[in-house]
Order: sequence, then C-alpha cells, then structure tokens
Amino acid sequence: MEIDESVIERLVRQAVKEVACDNKIDCEPVKKVEKNYGIYKTMEEAVEASAVAQKKLLFSTMAQRQAYVDVIRKTVLKKENMEMISLLSVEETGIGKYEHKIIKNTLAANKTPGTEDLVTEAKTGDHGLTVIEYCPFGVIGAITPTTNPTETIINNSISMIAGGNTVVFSPHPRATKVSHLLVSLLNKALEEAGAPSDLITTVEAPSIENTNILMEHPKVRMIVATGGPSIVKKVMSTGKKAIGAGAGNPPVVVDETADVEKAAKDIIDGCSFDNNVPCIAEKEVFAVDQICDYLIHCMKQNGAYEMKDPEMIAKLDALVSNEKGKPKVSFVGKSAQYILGQLGINVDDSIRVIIMEVNKDHHLVVEEMMMPILPIVRTEDVDQAIEYAYVAEHGNRHTAMMHSRNVEKLSKMAKLLETTIFVKNAPSYAGIGAGGEGHTTFTIAGPTGEGLTSARSFCRKRKCVMADALHIR
Ligand code: NAD
Repeated sequence: MEIDESVIERLVRQAVKEVACDNKIDCEPVKKVEKNYGIYKTMEEAVEASAVAQKKLLFSTMAQRQAYVDVIRKTVLKKENMEMISLLSVEETGIGKYEHKIIKNTLAANKTPGTEDLVTEAKTGDHGLTVIEYCPFGVIGAITPTTNPTETIINNSISMIAGGNTVVFSPHPRATKVSHLLVSLLNKALEEAGAPSDLITTVEAPSIENTNILMEHPKVRMIVATGGPSIVKKVMSTGKKAIGAGAGNPPVVVDETADVEKAAKDIIDGCSFDNNVPCIAEKEVFAVDQICDYLIHCMKQNGAYEMKDPEMIAKLDALVSNEKGKPKVSFVGKSAQYILGQLGINVDDSIRVIIMEVNKDHHLVVEEMMMPILPIVRTEDVDQAIEYAYVAEHGNRHTAMMHSRNVEKLSKMAKLLETTIFVKNAPSYAGIGAGGEGHTTFTIAGPTGEGLTSARSFCRKRKCVMADALHIR
C-alpha cells in the first residue's frame, strides 16, 4: 500500500485535535461544548444515556436499524476516518502495524453481518402459527482490548445495534484516545442520519473501577468481554448474561504431505499480521522431522530471521518477558525488526518474524506472547505433532491451523483440539473472513460458546404464538 506517512500524520493530528476539542478529550484549554457525542464523565451517566437510547431503538423499524448499521460502515470506511483511527491506534497503544490496522478495520466494517443475521424461525400446524425471533437484550456493556481497540468497537457496535441493543464501551485505558475518537465519530454520524443519540457510549476515563461499575449496573443486561483470562473470568461471575472472548495460543501443525512452500508463506503471513497481536495468529509450529528443515528454509525465503544460538534465544526470551513470564507490555505488537534491534541485530523491514527451533516445553511455546516470535518444534511424526499442539493450546479451544493433504489427520487434529476456529492450508486470518469464506468478528467467544459472534449472539430468543389461526396449509 502506497502511503505518504507525513501527510497522514499531519491529517490525523489536525483531525484528532478537532474532534478531541469538540469532545473535551486531551484538549487545552477545554472548549465549552454543546454535545458530548457519547463520551460521559461517569459510567453511570454513560449507562443511563444508553438506556434512554435503547428504548428509542426498540421502537425503530428494522429498516432504520439496518440504516444505522450502514452509517457505521460508511463512517468507518470514509478514507480520512479510516486513516485516522488506524494511525492513532498504533500511535497510542504502541501495538501493531498501520497498514494491517487498515485491513482489520476495513474487514470489521465490511464483513460484520447486519440485521440479515436475525433469521426468524416459524412453526405452523393445526394449532396455528408460532414465530421465534431474535430480540434485543437491552443495554450491553462491552469491554475491549488494547490489541484490537477500534476493530472491536466497529465489530461490536454493528452486531449489537443490528440486534436492537445499545452499547456502553469500557475500553482498555491504554486505548482511551482512539476509542473516544471512534465513538464520537460514530455517534455524530448516527445522529446526523436521524438515529437516537447515544446508541454507543463510553466513559471519559476508562479504568478497572469504571468497568466494575459497568458490570454491576442494574440497567446493563449483558456483559461482553474481549480480552485475557482475568476479565473473561470476571464477567462470567457477574450473575448476568455474559459473553467471554478469551485468550488463545494458536498452534500450527505441518506434516509431510503438506505443500511446504505454501505452508511456510502462509505461516509467516499469518504470524506477522499486525505484528502477531490477533488472538488467532500463529503462535508456535509443530513440524514433522521429514519436512522441518525445508520448512525453515522456505520460511527464511519469506521474511523469517532464524536464531540458532541457544544463548541468544535465552537472551531474546529474557528481553521480551517479565518476571512472571508474561510478555512485556513494551514488546507486545512490536515488529521483528524492532525486537532484533534491541539485541543489537540490525535487519531491514523485510524481516517479519523471528524463528528458532526449541523443545515443546520452551517458554516461548507455552506462553501467548503476541509478538512476531515463532518457535518451531520438530516432531517424529504427525501424531506427535498433533499431540504437542493439543498441549500447547492449553484447552483454550480458540484457534489452530494445520497444513496437510491427509484428510484423516486434518480431521483428527480438528476433533482433538475442538477449537472455535480450525484453518486448513491457509493463514490464520482466513478464519475471520480474510481469504476464507464466512463473516468476520473480533469477539471470538470460545469460553461461553457463541463462537464467531454476530448480531444473533447478542439477542434473546422470544416466542410469539397465534393459536389456531394464520396457518395456510
Ligand atoms: P487484557 O485482558 O489485559 O484487557 C482486556 C480488557 O479487559 C481491557 O479493557 C482491560 O482494561 C480489561 N481488564 C483486564 N483485566 C481486568 C480486570 N481484572 N478488571 C476489569 N477490567 C479488566 O487484554 P489485552 O492485552 O488488552 O488483549 C489481549 C488479550 O485478549 C489476549 O489474551 C488475546 O488473546 C485476547 N483477545 C481475545 C480475543 C477473542 O476474540 N477471543 C480478541 C482479542 C484479544
């Protein structure tokens, strides 16, 4: 993609300042404003405003709801908005790659289903007609991650509003500015299109305390968490309807029947996407001995840097991990070039992933690192590779990939790992609709079972019965 970075930067700085000043965000001196466009001083206010908006949305027609979804798509896809949110997302969080944020935000805007997802069931017979419809839950509290701040807001907003709900976001504090910018852009566009105000709201200063207020507020009927294990566990113990989209550690298996050249390219493409932060991205490889050397050779031809010295591998691991063995925040979503540079290894930006051969119990295999470091484990055969992949996935049942032409082994791995997404012979992102069939989502709800969420995931099924009439057979 051809982008003049300096022009975009100037554009974003200018636009962010304008919108921020309009919304009292990080703007000195604070201008008196008429409207807040969805950003409230307190979480209570954000929820109350959302509850008022939801009552209005409840009485909107389905055509109006779909029109609001279309406004969200159009607003996000407007060139300057897309560039602004993508650039600010990288700048504020220090995570990921501008060009890939553009792809992910575009995917969220284009491939999140709208109201067409709400398919009515009908039963007819001698006792009449019964319909079962997907109906709104009400006000939804949605907690979003640093790794996909804008993608999740776009995706959740479309799905939730299509379902007749309003949404109060609690973004990660490290993604406050970009979340505010997006929420205000969307609310402004929705209001201008005649939608009720405050379909999407949030709080001025996101924090754990504010997330707790959101979860406990009696007017919030459903809580959706997209993030790591701690927040997923927390929402599942609120006593309310909860959707938990948790962590993964997606393994890849490559066997001797695979197209090894294609597998190498697909794995590097998937692993390096947005510097490896997507929860679905390739995090470790199990390769059968027979093809392992050739796989590594082909990966190197596709932008992998191989680290061979065990001391250097240990140094790398220590550099990017904290005392608890978790990834250091300052390295999450950084490029391979940046990480290598911190070790005094200078490479150009054609290097996208750092690879190394290690054993199956290595820290880099076991831990979800969210940076373009890809450990490779050599196995005796495909059965051993599948077994090791099963262990490395930790029962998250999130995402796994396999490169093979052996249908029996492909089925074996899919059955054993039971992941929400299983991608065969493609990069991981094919699983969220980029180069694969099916809709996209940025809230993949493994723990609570909704899977690839869409409008219907955020709805209640309700039944309406007309006895002894209206059937026409
Ligand atoms: P995180 O868990 O640190 O934060 C996610 C959100 O939860 C943030 O808004 C954060 O402020 C909030 N939060 C975290 N702990 C909390 C607590 N105890 N109380 C209240 N709020 C809390 O995750 P992150 O680093 O922002 O995102 C990366 C993680 O999210 C990875 O584990 C990744 O796999 C996962 N993820 C999963 C999906 C999915 O669809 N399943 C999508 C994106 C990210």
